[in-house]
Amino acid sequence: MRNRRLINISGFRAGRFVSERAKNLLLGFIVFNAIMIGAVIFLVGRADQMVEMNGNVGDSIVWNQKLIGKTVVIDAGHGGIDPGAIGVTGVKEKDINLSVALKVKEFLQLSGVTVVMIREDDRDFGTSTRASRNKSEDLAYRTKVVADAQADVILSIHGNSFTDSRQQGAQVFHYKGSQEGAEFAQLLQDRLNEVTAHPRIIRSDNFYMLRNTHGTALTVEIGFLSCPEEEKKLVDPDYQSRLALAIALGVTSYLEN
Ligand SMILES: [Zn+2]
Repeated sequence: MRNRRLINISGFRAGRFVSERAKNLLLGFIVFNAIMIGAVIFLVGRADQMVEMNGNVGDSIVWNQKLIGKTVVIDAGHGGIDPGAIGVTGVKEKDINLSVALKVKEFLQLSGVTVVMIREDDRDFGTSTRASRNKSEDLAYRTKVVADAQADVILSIHGNSFTDSRQQGAQVFHYKGSQEGAEFAQLLQDRLNEVTAHPRIIRSDNFYMLRNTHGTALTVEIGFLSCPEEEKKLVDPDYQSRLALAIALGVTSYLEN
């Protein structure tokens, strides 16, 4: 092959060889450009998605090398046969919890964090027909997922309900006696207070998911379904995104340090 090219360098074959080479170069050029254009379209799309997701909240989620290898488990509270709290107009806590949890997942994934979702649809994890037994099976399953994930952070997302319908705002709970948990909870609480405009303070508790998990576990009560004004906000996808971003920013700043 090599010889033939040399022999025919000034003849017809050489011309064909050159034109084939030019054709290959042109093809390579076209493929290269197509890849570059594709990459640009992808990046612009991604940037648009991030702008849209970050909304008009001052801070935004950015990809962070330090977060690679960090794992967060997100537990959208209740689901399936267990609706959780019911709002004044019938909004089910399980649905709001799931919507916000899925948005937190998206934000955290954009930052580089690995996310494990306990549920991504409307379900529970009990098999028994007896409600109390079903609930304990459900919680046992959730705890097992957390243990298997070896997570750095466990977030349980819930909605609040109270007899006094004027109570509103988000509230973060950490495990009783955990200083680490308290500091982490404060990071999230500060972010959430900016969104809700009804500042609340962190609290400690002994919730099942807080005391039966390793890693730093928090329960985030995203708002009061018993408050008509807040129930209305909690079903709004934009408001849900702002809550989710506040939670994600709290988590990333905790994991970075
Ligand atoms: Zn709940």
